Amino acid sequence: MPDETPFPAQQQEPPGLTGAMSPEPDHGEQSYVGHGRLDGRRALVTGGDSGIGRAVAIAFAREGADVAIAYMPEEQEDAEATAHWVREAGRTVVLLPGDLRDERSARDIVGQAAEELGGLDVVVNNAGFQQARRESIDDLTTPELDRVLKTNLYALFWITHEALRHLKAGSAIINVSSIQAYEPSPALVDYAATKAAINNVTVNLAAQLGPRGIRVNAVAPGPIWTPLQPATQPSDHVEKFGADTPLGRAGQPAEVAPAFVFLASEGDASYVSGTVLGVTGGKPVF
Ligand code: NAD
Ligand code: MG
Repeated sequence: MPDETPFPAQQQEPPGLTGAMSPEPDHGEQSYVGHGRLDGRRALVTGGDSGIGRAVAIAFAREGADVAIAYMPEEQEDAEATAHWVREAGRTVVLLPGDLRDERSARDIVGQAAEELGGLDVVVNNAGFQQARRESIDDLTTPELDRVLKTNLYALFWITHEALRHLKAGSAIINVSSIQAYEPSPALVDYAATKAAINNVTVNLAAQLGPRGIRVNAVAPGPIWTPLQPATQPSDHVEKFGADTPLGRAGQPAEVAPAFVFLASEGDASYVSGTVLGVTGGKPVF
């Protein structure tokens, strides 16, 4: 384990921006090499402006997919950066700002993605929110609870429901879970609950949609260096971020994206559905 933290203490307001992070995360800009594994696929990645979603958008584009990304309006500069890399890969990008906590917005985003991409083959339910709190449920307010549950769960249901108007046999849905589903932190009681629920929904939808030829899986990341961390955790937590994993460090978004490529690919994962793939630096996901 390195003696010195790679992450100096830092804090941002949610949702957090990439340019204010020190160091900036690695989304695979200089390293990801595509092999045509998603040629011609059309993907919607929620939260595709930054962090894991940006790494997924870059990897998908380099694998031959066109990509629509959804994000909050205040994240426009991050969305433009992702768009740059998708275009540089020679693929189409669609930018869809909006608040996924609003049902109409969430459903409209799916319709716009399908219309502008000419259809939809892959949906990545990646947008998410957490807020580290005092370690007592006494302090949890209803507006705080609403923000976490609506972003992480309601939006996932609305987007998936709407996307099923477009997805055909061979399509894939990928949800984003977390190590928090297995090893919940007291300070993230509401967030951890949503991630456990996402695992449960993933299994259930895999069963429901298997007969239609649609695969449903989840990726469960461990500690990954993204804007979500400095925006929602105390600044001193950031300094030791990831040090408690068997690999002794946090992961980069670029190290998570290949799991999404695998699950999205009909060539590689045609018989993989209903599973949760951990990318946790060694922490168990069972
Ligand atoms: P991130 O902040 O880069 O991405 C989260 C994105 O969610 C934001 O960019 C934002 O666009 C989107 N979002 C949040 N609220 C929204 C709303 N109301 N409307 C529209 N979009 C909204 O951080 P990230 O870590 O890359 O997060 C991506 C996913 O990974 C989340 O589901 C998160 O829970 C999950 N995750 C992250 C970690 C980690 O350590 N970073 C670990 C496990 C799971
Ligand atoms: Mg963001």
